[in-house]
Amino acid sequence: MHTPILEKEGQDSKKCLTDLVQKSTLQLERIPVKGYSEVVKVTDKQAGLSAIIAIHDLTMGPALGGIRIQPYATFEAALEDALRLAKGMTYKSSVAEVGFGGGKSVIIADPKKQKPEEMLRAFGAAVQELGGRYICAEDVGCTVEDVKVVRRSTQYVVGLAHSKSSGDPGPFTAWGTFRGIQATLKKLFGSDTLEGRTIAIQGLGNVGVNLAEFCFWAGANLILSDIDVVKVQKLAAKYGAKTLPSDQILFAECDILAPCALGAILNDQTIPRLRCKGVAGCANNQLLKDSHADLLKERGILYAPDFVINAGGLLNVAAELETEGYVPANPRRKVHRIYDTLIAIYEISEKNRESTHAAAIALADYRIKYGIGKRVVSPTFHHSAEM
Ligand code: NAD
Repeated sequence: MHTPILEKEGQDSKKCLTDLVQKSTLQLERIPVKGYSEVVKVTDKQAGLSAIIAIHDLTMGPALGGIRIQPYATFEAALEDALRLAKGMTYKSSVAEVGFGGGKSVIIADPKKQKPEEMLRAFGAAVQELGGRYICAEDVGCTVEDVKVVRRSTQYVVGLAHSKSSGDPGPFTAWGTFRGIQATLKKLFGSDTLEGRTIAIQGLGNVGVNLAEFCFWAGANLILSDIDVVKVQKLAAKYGAKTLPSDQILFAECDILAPCALGAILNDQTIPRLRCKGVAGCANNQLLKDSHADLLKERGILYAPDFVINAGGLLNVAAELETEGYVPANPRRKVHRIYDTLIAIYEISEKNRESTHAAAIALADYRIKYGIGKRVVSPTFHHSAEM
């Protein structure tokens, strides 16, 4: 049975309710989930909000993770996604040493049709209620404009479009993914040049578009795909790229397959049909199950663990919470080093005869166990109330 947080925690929690919460029908209910610090079901009938905030682990610092807006078929499907994504954020933050824990939220709605201001504001009020244990940012279906609305009811937001914030994390994620592709090529071929290499990109959104550009300028031959056919044609013309329909891109003959759309695309059905030498893309939770990393290893396909290669956006949003404020050169330097982190993980996995995914998780767990990279100074929110 779900226990309403506000009732359970009594008077103190009630005191910190914002006016908005008191006037609204916002409800926060805890869902007990083993292995997770806190999972909250958020609803506001008036505002049309149905959401989940999942906080996986707070050992290294407050949980930081994006808001995914997606029309899940069922509440259970949304919960499963939120839990998987939140756990992935714990690993990602640990390996990237940003001093944050893992969390993620999902809003059950169609981002193309249903993003009314009241819904986003009600969500922000729920984030505020958690008192900084969860800090949100953009993710799939949620734009910089959307987080600006969320910001109206909570300070615990990053990735806003103003001078003290870090803005859209997409380009930083894309650069980290590009560096990850270089590292993967280095391990596969002894050279990290993209000159003459074929890179197949699935998904041309915030990250995929920037990644395509970086790969183009580095001399790669591109194969592009997106469910938005107009977008694909436009970019293909710009870069002289080949295209493939969205149901065929995963099976493109290429050096590197870069999944940059949604998760669970590496599974029993797809892995036997892959024709790439390496998988290095930004999508979260690319493996349907951890064991699929072993299947990739058996097939001799080098896999760049998603939570390592796609940490660029996290490094960028985390940088705005530093005491001195957002200095773009700081995350740039750290994102660049994703190359070295991946090379180290490839070496460890080879030495230990384990999958690259297992090696990356072992590294994340080790850092959490010994508090390596743990936050010592509280994050500073530099945005003022009017931003
Ligand atoms: P986005 O929503 O901007 O873009 C996703 C793109 O994928 C869209 O253009 C969509 O049309 C396309 N797409 C969806 N299904 C597809 C399919 N079956 N085949 C081909 N294309 C398809 O998202 P984004 O911000 O670019 O992020 C992409 C992925 O990277 C997500 O998994 C996200 O969680 C992950 N990620 C993003 C960031 C970031 O900074 N934006 C950071 C870390 C991880």
